[in-house]
Amino acid sequence: MQHLLAKYGVTHTLLSVEDLAGIERVLRETPTRLVVFESPTNPVTKIADLAHLTGHARRAKCLTVMDNTFAGFHNHGGYDIDIFLHSLTKFASGHGDVMGGAIIANSELIAAMRKDVVSMGATLDPHAAFLIQRGMRTYFLRYERQCANALAVSLFLHAHPRIKRVFYPGLESHPQHLLAKRQMRDFGSVVSFDLDGAWDAGNRFAEALEFFSITSSVGSTESLVMPPQLLGGQEYTAAQRDAALIGRGTVRLSVGVEDASDLIADLAQALEKAFPQ
Ligand SMILES: *Cc1c(COP(=O)(O)O)cnc(C)c1O
Repeated sequence: MQHLLAKYGVTHTLLSVEDLAGIERVLRETPTRLVVFESPTNPVTKIADLAHLTGHARRAKCLTVMDNTFAGFHNHGGYDIDIFLHSLTKFASGHGDVMGGAIIANSELIAAMRKDVVSMGATLDPHAAFLIQRGMRTYFLRYERQCANALAVSLFLHAHPRIKRVFYPGLESHPQHLLAKRQMRDFGSVVSFDLDGAWDAGNRFAEALEFFSITSSVGSTESLVMPPQLLGGQEYTAAQRDAALIGRGTVRLSVGVEDASDLIADLAQALEKAFPQ
């Protein structure tokens, strides 16, 4: 939106997904065609109030586009959302070995988009399609296990003295836990937290982990970590980073299907190495 669509004269307003009053005001004052959002948000799992957000959009006669990748296919289908986006690279394929994406919408909208999407080259090759289709057979098994592990990991992190804040919608301490519980069947595999000690500690922590690979993806069978050095978001201004709650010690985990106690033991030893006495 900032770089590509701007070239074609498309303007936008950037707001926090929690800022319902701001969203309502912009929709009232600015002619708007699309509301684009995600929930839970990357990386700190803010939750969009879907009933209110889609209600405001409907009244303003604009379409809603929800990136539903973190929540997965089995969440949010009952809401009045026009277009769902999914990265198939993540939970759908599940093994971190293929890239793809999906748009889910009514046939009229799909027909309106299909030609342009094909012209722009977003067509899967057969082998990628095969890998994603095979991954989909275990989608829910993996997702369920990843959620259970993510909750166990987030409870461990929440109780750890070196960790300032943990962001996981399944935790009762999450400011929007009750909203997430109303809207979602489960809470996903992404857990973020703020390490005391910021960058240096984050780097030592990520390097010391044995079960978590340092990478920018999520939703794989194996656990993944994004240290603050990668999460910094070079494209964001300081104000945008603050609004997104990304601090100098923010770490994002994507929790995999490994044994939860192995993951917790690994996090514990890496936290010790992150803070040498
Ligand atoms: C990874 C990701 C994308 C981009 O998907 P790719 O398949 O990597 O191009 C978009 N949205 C969310 C929420 C993601 O996690």
